[in-house]
Amino acid sequence: MDANEERKSLRWDGRERPRPADVSSEIGIRVASCYQCLRCTNGCPVAALMDLKPHEVVRLAQFGREEELLESAAPWICLSCEMCSTYCPNEIDVAGLMNHLKNTVVSSLGEPALHEVAAFHEAFLDVLERYGRMNDFELMGRFKWKTLLHQGPPGRKEMLEDLSLAWSLLKRGRLALLPDKAKGAGEIRRFMRQHGKKRIS
Ligand code: SF4
Ligand code: SF4
Repeated sequence: MDANEERKSLRWDGRERPRPADVSSEIGIRVASCYQCLRCTNGCPVAALMDLKPHEVVRLAQFGREEELLESAAPWICLSCEMCSTYCPNEIDVAGLMNHLKNTVVSSLGEPALHEVAAFHEAFLDVLERYGRMNDFELMGRFKWKTLLHQGPPGRKEMLEDLSLAWSLLKRGRLALLPDKAKGAGEIRRFMRQHGKKRIS
C-alpha cells in the first residue's frame, strides 16, 4: 500500500471505515497499526521519567494531536536505544517517531520541552561539525554558554560543582584541553551542512 493512501480497517459488521491519519504519510511510521499492548512502554528504560509514555506518544500520533506531542518532554528524555521498536509486535518504529518529533521541534525553531537536553544535542553537533570527533572540554564550554544565554548565569553551588568536576577530570588526564581533528573531519562537516543543521538556542 502506498504510504500516502488512506488506510482502511474492517468494522465488526464487515463495513470499511477510514483509520486515523498515519505518520506514515510523512516518515513511513505506521502508527495506525498500534493496538496499545504497552510492550514499547514496558521495554523502555526511561518511561518512568516521561510525561507521555511511548505507547501514549503513538496514541496521540494516531489522532494527529501534534501540539501535545511537540510540547512533550518525552522525545527529549528518549535515549534512542530502540528497545520500544524492537519489542513492538507490529514493527512500529517508536524510536523513529521520537526522533521525528525532536527534529520537527528543531526544524520549526520551536521551543524544546527540555531546553538543556536540546542545547546539549546542539553543542554536541557543533563540536562534531568542527573537529569530526568529540572534545569534552569544548562540548561543556559550548553547552554551558548556551544554557547561560537561555536561563542566565548558574548559581554559585552549580559553578563550584562544575569547576570541581573539571579539575578532577583534568588531574586524571580525562579532559583534553586542546581539540584534536579527525582525519575525516571535512567529510563529516560537508555531510552535516548538506543536511542543514538548524539552531535551537
Ligand atoms: S508495542 Fe507497538 S503495538 Fe504495542 S503499544 Fe507500543 S507501539 Fe503500540
Ligand atoms: S528509544 Fe526512547 S522511547 Fe524507545 S525504549 Fe529507548 S528510550 Fe524508550
